[in-house]
Amino acid sequence: MRRLLLGFFLLFAIPMPAQTIAIRAGNLIDPASGSVARNQIILIRDQKIAEVGPNVAIPAGAQVLDLSSEWLMPGVIDSHTHVTFQLPNMSTPLEENYLEVSKGMRVLQGLKIAQTLLNAGITTIRDVGNEADYASVDVRNAINKGWFVGPTILTSGKIIAAFGGQSSGVPPEAGPVWRFEYIDADGPWEIRKAVRQNIFYGADLIKLVSDNSDYFYSEEEIRAAADEAHKAGRALAVHCYKTEEANNVINGGADSLEHGWHLTDDQLRLMKAKGTFLAGTEFPEAHFVQGGYPDGKAVAAAAIDRLRRAYTIGVKMVFSTDAVTEMPGESRADMTWDYLAGWRQAGVPPAAVLKAMTTNAAELLRIQKERGAISAGLFADIIAMPANPLDDTEALRKVNFVMKNGAVIRNSK
Ligand SMILES: [Zn+2]
Repeated sequence: MRRLLLGFFLLFAIPMPAQTIAIRAGNLIDPASGSVARNQIILIRDQKIAEVGPNVAIPAGAQVLDLSSEWLMPGVIDSHTHVTFQLPNMSTPLEENYLEVSKGMRVLQGLKIAQTLLNAGITTIRDVGNEADYASVDVRNAINKGWFVGPTILTSGKIIAAFGGQSSGVPPEAGPVWRFEYIDADGPWEIRKAVRQNIFYGADLIKLVSDNSDYFYSEEEIRAAADEAHKAGRALAVHCYKTEEANNVINGGADSLEHGWHLTDDQLRLMKAKGTFLAGTEFPEAHFVQGGYPDGKAVAAAAIDRLRRAYTIGVKMVFSTDAVTEMPGESRADMTWDYLAGWRQAGVPPAAVLKAMTTNAAELLRIQKERGAISAGLFADIIAMPANPLDDTEALRKVNFVMKNGAVIRNSK
């Protein structure tokens, strides 16, 4: 008992000096402006950035990390992931996951993929459903408790959709197996209830699928979801493949439209006017083809064309992947970087891509006062690489330093 008391006394009586880290940053990229500041000092204390500048004094006893030959930027945010979901290919029926993979396995898979992403420099993810029975909520909570190392996760909980979720061909006698990861909600009040259910079980944002069936959500239904989500301080993400229904999504007040590969110029202009983010998930052609997606080549080309048009029109865009299939010899992180080629093909300059990965994403995720920039007061989510991603975003494949919340996750410089 005495020993315990002594330990208690020592633990609380002696103030431990907060671990301070000073990074010598050779080339510090500010994605908001696309500018680079040379030879900066970043001071990190208590998980956050305390000071940044060329003449910051390094306190005695601080741990100094020399990244003076590196290019540094805020950690990447992927605004459309499904870490607890993996299919052999896109032809695999979704139901296989509900019926053959337990929630426990989905949680473990999510943790593994989340850690893979963090190691590659993706320090924050916005997970948009297909998470079994709130598996991503559990992964997020376990990481937030400090049980495991992982990225910052914002997750949507179950996907809200019209009857049937994203399933098809399920016979009535099999029962609503899709409810393992979808909430059936038809009509404004059912949608409001589904939003409340998700928030109760821990959702950080709300995700709707607007048009996966012959029926689709009306503007009134989208507005109900947006209203209910916004009242609770959450953003609304809406999956929308088809063209005619997109107006309902945009006019109904969604914060982001997911996919939208065939949006017209008029719809993109409407999104710009309303400030709707495009989470465009422009799958690389190779992923579509490997995944067995019908008309994969044509859809990939359409997505690149729409990305080009969205950029030209000036829609606010976030970097978003949606990788869920397996690519031989590639990790989920490798697959994430495969999306960079599409942005290049669409003629989007690297500076705009980095902004989509950081500044814009932080705004959509409503975390711009916490993450998405390297400035005083924000959490220290910092990555570094030997080449300049403003010249070529492929430099991101060579990230050799990752810091999240002020902790060094990887330093293989
Ligand atoms: Zn998705």
